[in-house]
Amino acid sequence: MSDRHQVLVTMDSLRWDVFAAALMPFLKAFPYAQALTHGSYTLPAHAAFFAGRLPCTFAGSFDTCARSNRTPEGMPQWRLNNPETPGPGRYQLVGRNIVEGFKRKGYETIGTGGVSWFDPGKPAYVQAIDDFERYRWFGGFTHGAEQVDWIIEKVAASDRPCFVFINFGETHHPFRTSESDPRTEYAHGFRRCFEAQRRCAEHLDRLLERLFSAGSMKHADAVVCADHGDCFGEDGLWGHTFAHAKVLEVPIVKVST
Ligand SMILES: [Zn+2]
Repeated sequence: MSDRHQVLVTMDSLRWDVFAAALMPFLKAFPYAQALTHGSYTLPAHAAFFAGRLPCTFAGSFDTCARSNRTPEGMPQWRLNNPETPGPGRYQLVGRNIVEGFKRKGYETIGTGGVSWFDPGKPAYVQAIDDFERYRWFGGFTHGAEQVDWIIEKVAASDRPCFVFINFGETHHPFRTSESDPRTEYAHGFRRCFEAQRRCAEHLDRLLERLFSAGSMKHADAVVCADHGDCFGEDGLWGHTFAHAKVLEVPIVKVST
């Protein structure tokens, strides 16, 4: 077991082009790339992530693997030890998902979800959340600051390296943060949606700086990405849950502290 925390953060629905346009000085100080996700909505995308398959990159200096699990150079590669796994990865994890895999290696597993696919009270949800030793769903799209504080507190209370997961809902429609009240609806059009999601992404950048500046979060390897994007009227389409380029293009960032 490494003594470094392993962290996966998903900024729900954040489009690649919104991320590229956003002022995000914390995240953009680290290597980042455009990638393609494996699912057009939260459930299948996270099913892939928790099976060790992060969004793929295809070009340039990030492209270090000719096989299907392409990730930015040096990025932690959480891979289950199953027949689907091209190896070797940095972490060979055994279990039904990476949460169980890290737990078996001795990590404390701590997770928090934002959007409703992470609500364990729903009949269908991202099942990997059942495997976290500590898990909390905050019940809405605007609780990122509380999620960060909760994670910092739980990691500080642990005497072990942790596997940490956060799904942030702010960048999901209706693009609100705890600092901004108005909802933005798709009916408001491309420009309003783009700018509202950009403000939410910039809000998350400040939260992530707070997270990774915490004393308890020193010595962490993190992947920060979107689970999928969103259509803002392209080809007459709005939202996600369908395979459109604007839904599949996502940012992926490698953060080390
Ligand atoms: Zn999502």
